Parts: sequence; structure tokens; C-alpha cells
Amino acid sequence: MRPESEKVNLLGLPQGALENFFAGIGEQPFRARQVLQWIHQRNADHFDAMTDLSKGLRAKLEESAVIRLPALLSEKVSNDGTIKWLFESGAGQAVETVFIPEPGRGTLCISSQVGCALDCAFCATGAQGFNRNLVAAEIVGQVNYANRALPPRANGEPAVTNVVFMGMGEPLANYRNLLPALDLLLSDFSYGLSRRRITVSTSGIVPQIHKLGDDCNVSLAVSLHAPNDQLRNYLVPINRIHPIAELLDACWTYAAKRANRFITFEYVMLRDINDSIGHAHELAGLLRGKTAKVNLIPFNPFPGNEFYRSESRDIAAFQAALRAQGIVATTRKTRGDDISAACGQLAGKVSDRVRNRLSEKKAKVATA
Ligand code: SAH
Ligand code: SF4
Repeated sequence: MRPESEKVNLLGLPQGALENFFAGIGEQPFRARQVLQWIHQRNADHFDAMTDLSKGLRAKLEESAVIRLPALLSEKVSNDGTIKWLFESGAGQAVETVFIPEPGRGTLCISSQVGCALDCAFCATGAQGFNRNLVAAEIVGQVNYANRALPPRANGEPAVTNVVFMGMGEPLANYRNLLPALDLLLSDFSYGLSRRRITVSTSGIVPQIHKLGDDCNVSLAVSLHAPNDQLRNYLVPINRIHPIAELLDACWTYAAKRANRFITFEYVMLRDINDSIGHAHELAGLLRGKTAKVNLIPFNPFPGNEFYRSESRDIAAFQAALRAQGIVATTRKTRGDDISAACGQLAGKVSDRVRNRLSEKKAKVATA
């Protein structure tokens, strides 16, 4: 028997890859559909449970594959019912997943990377730096875990009805693993979620927005946060590479590819930074007449940060100014902030390999 670490984790393989896996062990590709259903719909975590597979095949699977779920480090439940899970991601690292129950739906906010390299000025994940990409099994494993841990809905369906990539990391910077994870979320043999119920949130990696539009076309949210390049360069540094005009152009192309469905623009409300009526008018100027809606996010503070949340009345005035200009605008209700599970508070435990290497280099230079 192979050591566990060398076995393939079937949790991360979408139908095509699983069919190849079966072909590789001399089995019929249609087995892939059965196994997908066992893992993702019937919550099997070992091959013996798969009673419609022959004993011989189960033994063969045991030999070369595993179903490895993320390992839980901790669970916190907020007063408002929001649940935050911390999952082990190897070498003392951890990522966070948040479940947000609402009437009529259960939204899971999942992570795509251990940390994030993009370093947005107001984000706890960015402040920690980047360690590594999650693999597809670790991304989809968060959904799998939640559906196992939570009771099914009243109609018997799994607890997770919507998935948003708004946890730790930049999903479009981990495109290689994002795509198979999306494939699994969409496939009828696994989670069967519609494109409308899956939202990828990005800070604006333009080439990957174009790719996603062609490859998958799920709902898109874009972290805009500023209505001009000068301010956005400071708040969202990727803007220096892909400025607002280029980003918006990619957004409208994306929307056109998906029957002109709306793109959500996230806008974190930072007191005295980006929250004036002038900013609202500038923002409306960018989005007017387009397939766009704005979601205002009251800033969620975290230790060691220089920003403050905008006053409620300023957020309301900003929203009203957008609406007066014909822009659809909502304000996100802050959930789970008593357990640090709100947007941008997700910090897991990340030691930044990139920065550590840089500081080692700096130390070498300094001592040379
Ligand atoms: N990297 C992706 C997805 C993860 S962040 C992105 O940037 O879109 C999910 C959302 O939370 C983004 O809109 C992000 O800008 C926002 N966010 C980050 N830090 C925040 C904070 N401290 N308060 C409120 N929202 C924050
Ligand atoms: Fe990364 Fe998104 Fe945080 Fe920016 S806001 S640092 S892209 S996780």
C-alpha cells in the first residue's frame, strides 16, 4: 500500500480528471460519476461506504487514493448565527471559512489562498502576506466540510446554497486551482449550484477576469473601493498594474458574455478616505448606464490598522447619492464581527514566506 501522502485526494478532482484517474487504473470512466456523488452528495469519506462499487474496485481505490477533508482547528459561533471555522493548512498555517445563515439561503464564504500577496491597505489577510495557494481539494473541501457539519435545510437540500470567494486570498491569483473547484461546485454530480449562486470576488486581475468569462462565467464581484486611480493605487495596489479604465473594460466584456448580468462592485467605506459625496458622484460617473450594482461594505477594523469605519449617516448619504444618480446600491450588513468573521477580518495564521525571504535578504545585505 502506498503511503497516505502519495495517494491522490479524490476530493479535488472534477469529472474529467476523475475519469482520467479511473482510466489510469484500468476502470470504466463512468465510475467517476458514481464516486463524485458519493463524495460530494452522500458525504462518504472512505471507499468502503461506496456500496455500489465492487469489493475489488474499492480495494483498488484504497490502494491509490484517499478522500481527505480539511482538518478543523477551531469553530466559533457568533450571536447572529454566523459560524467561523479555522482549518489547518499545513506547516502551522491556517485558513478561515465562514457560514452565514440567512432566511432562504446559506452562504459559505471560502478562502482560496493561505494569506494574500496583493496587500490592500485595509485588509487583515493582506497585512499577513502570502504563504501558498490552496489546492482544489482544499477549496472545495470547505464546502464539503460545511455540508457535512451543518444540518440539511428544511427541504432536505444541503446547508450551503451559495458560495462566495470572499474569504482569505485572491481567487484569480490561484486560477489553476480555482477552475477545478468551480467545476465541482457547478456539476450536477457534485454540488449542482447554478452560476448565479457562486460569486468570485477579485481585486482586479484583468487577464484572469477575461479568462474566467470564457471558462466559467460565474457571478463576478470586483473590489473597486475607490473611484479614481490615485486613490485606488493607494488602497488596492494591483491598480498600479491594471488601472480602473482597464478593469472596468474587462468587467463590461465579462457582463456581455453572461447575458448582461450585473457585476457587483464592492466598496469598503473608510472614514474620510473614500466616503465623501464627491466620491459617490465620481463612482456614479464610472458606473452609470452599465450592468453594475454597488455593495457598500462598512470597514471592519482589525488590530494594527490605520483606518476607521465611516459613520452610519455618511454611509447612508453615500448610498443615497448613488441611488439618486440611478445606480443600484446596497449596504452590506456586517455579520459575525463578534467572532472576527466579518469581511477583511479573516486572518487565519499565516507566516509570510515571501516577506520572510525578503527580510532575510535585507538582513544579509545589512550585515554584509
Ligand atoms: N481577494 C478578493 C476576495 C477576498 S476579500 C478581493 O479582494 O475581492 C473579500 C472582500 O472583503 C473584498 O471586497 C475586500 O476588499 C473586502 N475587505 C477586505 N478587508 C476588509 C475590511 N477590513 N473591512 C471590510 N471589507 C474588507
Ligand atoms: Fe488580498 Fe482581497 Fe485582501 Fe486585497 S482585499 S489583500 S486582494 S484578500
